[in-house]
Amino acid sequence: MRIPLAAGNWKMNLSRDEAIALAQAIKEQASDSQRVDVLLCPPAVYLDAVCKIVEDTLIGVGSQDVFWQPEGAYTGEISAPMVRGMGCSYSIVGHSERRHLFGETDEEVNWKVKAAQQNDLTPILCVGELLEERQAKQTDKVITRQVEAGLEDLDADDVLNLIIAYEPVWAIGTGEVARPDQANEVHGLIRSILQDRYDTSISNGMRIIYGGSVKPDNIAGLIAQSEIDGALVGGASLKADSFLEIIEGCA
Ligand code: PEP
Repeated sequence: MRIPLAAGNWKMNLSRDEAIALAQAIKEQASDSQRVDVLLCPPAVYLDAVCKIVEDTLIGVGSQDVFWQPEGAYTGEISAPMVRGMGCSYSIVGHSERRHLFGETDEEVNWKVKAAQQNDLTPILCVGELLEERQAKQTDKVITRQVEAGLEDLDADDVLNLIIAYEPVWAIGTGEVARPDQANEVHGLIRSILQDRYDTSISNGMRIIYGGSVKPDNIAGLIAQSEIDGALVGGASLKADSFLEIIEGCA
């Protein structure tokens, strides 16, 4: 039985006061439920504050990225031990904005996955095709490449501590959500890659969440799909009301 995950990626948004108010609202109004896991991924500079707000609850906190080296002369980067030390338990890795705006490669994404896991952080490995790749019928090829590369060197025990997010790049922040059946098909492909690399119990047990313009009015159709185990939510996670509706929708 896969427990759905509702994860909010706040990206580079909100003032400190707004971030604190949002975390507090989610804490107060999201009932601690065994039916859905809730995760907040604020900007790195607010991780400490958000971790403190939700520390006595089941709400998890994750970073939006993590560097692969544990320490050193890497100005501006944040390491996995630092993220863990603040009280986080997850890290988003390989988000499409990191891949496409900052040129992150599949290999670097894999290093980040491993660094997160070595420091007790559950990586949320993001994969997704560009619009032109979908139009050129390259979706399966791109997703297979990104998943295989992201999981390089990971054995069966490692992947138990990992979540995959399918986020078609053309649906992120555009208001154009993938059709539930379209998303489900790609989730099914990812599950079959996991089955081939590992085994059925792993492919059946692993959570694969969808991201890309998830809103309160489309979560029901997505979560009803057999292979969709929750949502990674950008814009709609910035307001307590809409994120709470999505959490309920996932449950
Ligand atoms: C995201 O940031 O991962 C995302 C899916 O954003 P949005 O929900 O705004 O499309």
